Amino acid sequence: MTEATSVPLEAKSPYELRVHLGDAVPEQSVRQAIASGDMGFLHSYTTGSTVDGPGVRVVAWTTGCMWRCQYCHNPDTWTMTNGIPLSVGKAAEELGKYRHSLKIMSGGFTLSGGEPLMQHRFAAKLMAAARAMGIHTTIETNGFLGDRLSDKELDTIDLVMLGLKTWDPARHRALTGMDVAPTIAFARRLAARRRPMWLRFVLVPGLTDDMDDLAKSAEFAAGLGNVERVEVLPFHQLGRFKWERLGLDYKLAGVEAPSADLTQRALGVLRAAGLNAD
Ligand code: SF4
Repeated sequence: MTEATSVPLEAKSPYELRVHLGDAVPEQSVRQAIASGDMGFLHSYTTGSTVDGPGVRVVAWTTGCMWRCQYCHNPDTWTMTNGIPLSVGKAAEELGKYRHSLKIMSGGFTLSGGEPLMQHRFAAKLMAAARAMGIHTTIETNGFLGDRLSDKELDTIDLVMLGLKTWDPARHRALTGMDVAPTIAFARRLAARRRPMWLRFVLVPGLTDDMDDLAKSAEFAAGLGNVERVEVLPFHQLGRFKWERLGLDYKLAGVEAPSADLTQRALGVLRAAGLNAD
């Protein structure tokens, strides 16, 4: 499998619609790449993020996700071959260029998606390579495939940013298309290994704003003992055009961003459980 020479690896916004960048890669090569982790598929990357983990960060967004969250703002990342094929060596080499400045800015590298653990071999190798260069490592994941990482691999990840969607199993399935149980099991495993964790909660009016449900998530999270922070992310419509361009059925066209009052109520529920929420 060769890297796509026609697609430049340059910093891009995750809000840019990107499709078919890896279509030239034969299906068998895609499977081999995923199995070995020597190659991965990246949607985009950026170099100066201050919202994807501590400090200033290089962030790479992988393609491939098996969830179908109704509020997903990057549905073009769902398909693996929408991304640029890239060797783990090349990805690490690019990342290495920033290692000194990342250290100065108390930052690091964040692997996000899509769902990075759809490419768990690639993710594990890239995290280990970053760590070997002295770079702080973070992975942003829905946790569903967390059991694909060994304990040793987990220990190369300095911070896990876990998506917290909803507590109720039926509601979770309606919201994401998938079961919540594997995510909860992964959170418990991280807690047992005392791995630092941040939670990210997208507040969507009418969809994730049931405060009783949020209180159950909060109680669970507070009991884990390794949750350093909970981020409440207000829903927005920045990804809407992607759903429309991809011909997908977008159900949230009429939903507005949460009011300041609703956001404060959600923060209040999380803080009442003893969590550091902002
Ligand atoms: S887990 Fe993330 S990338 Fe996957 S559908 Fe949900 S929001 Fe989108």
